[in-house]
Amino acid sequence: MTSRVIINISELTTNDAALGDGSPMGRLFNAAMVIDEHHVLWVGANADAPSADERIDARDSAVIPGFVDSHTHLVFAGERSDEFEARMAGEPYDGGGIARTVAATRAASNEDLRTTTQRRVEALRAGGVTTVEIKSGYELTVEGEARLVEVASEWSDEVTFLGAHVVPAEFTNDRDAYVELVGGAMLAACAPKSRWADVFCDVGAFSVDEARSILLRARDAGLGLRVHGNQLGDTGGVALAVELGAASVDHCSHVKDADVEALAASSTVATLLPGAEFSTKSPYPSARRLLDAGVTVALATDCNPGTSYVTNMGVVIALAVREMGMSVDEAIWAATLGGALALERDDIGHLSPGARAHVVILDAPRSAHVAYRVGSALVRQILHD
Ligand SMILES: [Zn+2]
Repeated sequence: MTSRVIINISELTTNDAALGDGSPMGRLFNAAMVIDEHHVLWVGANADAPSADERIDARDSAVIPGFVDSHTHLVFAGERSDEFEARMAGEPYDGGGIARTVAATRAASNEDLRTTTQRRVEALRAGGVTTVEIKSGYELTVEGEARLVEVASEWSDEVTFLGAHVVPAEFTNDRDAYVELVGGAMLAACAPKSRWADVFCDVGAFSVDEARSILLRARDAGLGLRVHGNQLGDTGGVALAVELGAASVDHCSHVKDADVEALAASSTVATLLPGAEFSTKSPYPSARRLLDAGVTVALATDCNPGTSYVTNMGVVIALAVREMGMSVDEAIWAATLGGALALERDDIGHLSPGARAHVVILDAPRSAHVAYRVGSALVRQILHD
């Protein structure tokens, strides 16, 4: 197996507090590391770097773990820039536009869905994302959702069944029948290609009781649980996620103190998606409040055509720092190890010996440049198995 040594790293972020400077970022300066095709083998001082089959000189470059984007809706057709323009002109977001993407996605060919999904994965990757979670949720039929998880599974092992995105128009007068379909035939069709199930538990989507019934059936089918919660109101999604032991509850834009306390006492990660607040012109949640209470926070792009058509994790990090009270280090941690925890993965999001060799070499001497030079292309090289 070919080994590679990366030398002259100006600042190496391992996210392993046992390494380097003892901070949560596990920083080493003037460092080196050795990887093979799959794993990190060694991390240490540049002066101690062993020889290897190949040598990469990272002079003047910081090295970080690849970003873990734990929340995307990448498989869709069409676009909704007109809604963005309307919101910027003052129109509020109410979740109603999802139906437009459902119509466009149902009409799209398999080839179109594959091509556009691939382009979005490549765009994320160009910005340093080495693991991406991908949700279904834009067909809302048994065959259609099965098609979306199939396409998603070609790009990721972290596939999420989101049949409970919204109630489609044809079930408006019979919500119970749709909830039954999602937890029955649709779940059965999608579970083989999915690792996770998610429910949009919010105003205009699914109630706590509807969400609970679907998630319990998904858990029985062997899937891990995720929840879209408290984006549009104080709607009980966070409490439900904690009650069910979900890996993550995502958005958390409207949370009361009891929700924060429940999250802090649980293993459920709060995943914040500032691209959505940016794109809907909504108030940002306070990451500071969650962090100070002891909640584990992740950052993700929420890449979707309606409310966050964002494929640049650096922009998400910059928004979190500028608008949500996170330090630069906290935001980078949340977009790497935080995302890994939200996916219950211990092999990614950090660069301890034994971790996956998902290594991003930045065209910058410090990782802080990711936020400092917001929107800039800073990825010099990605090493990924
Ligand atoms: Zn989402």
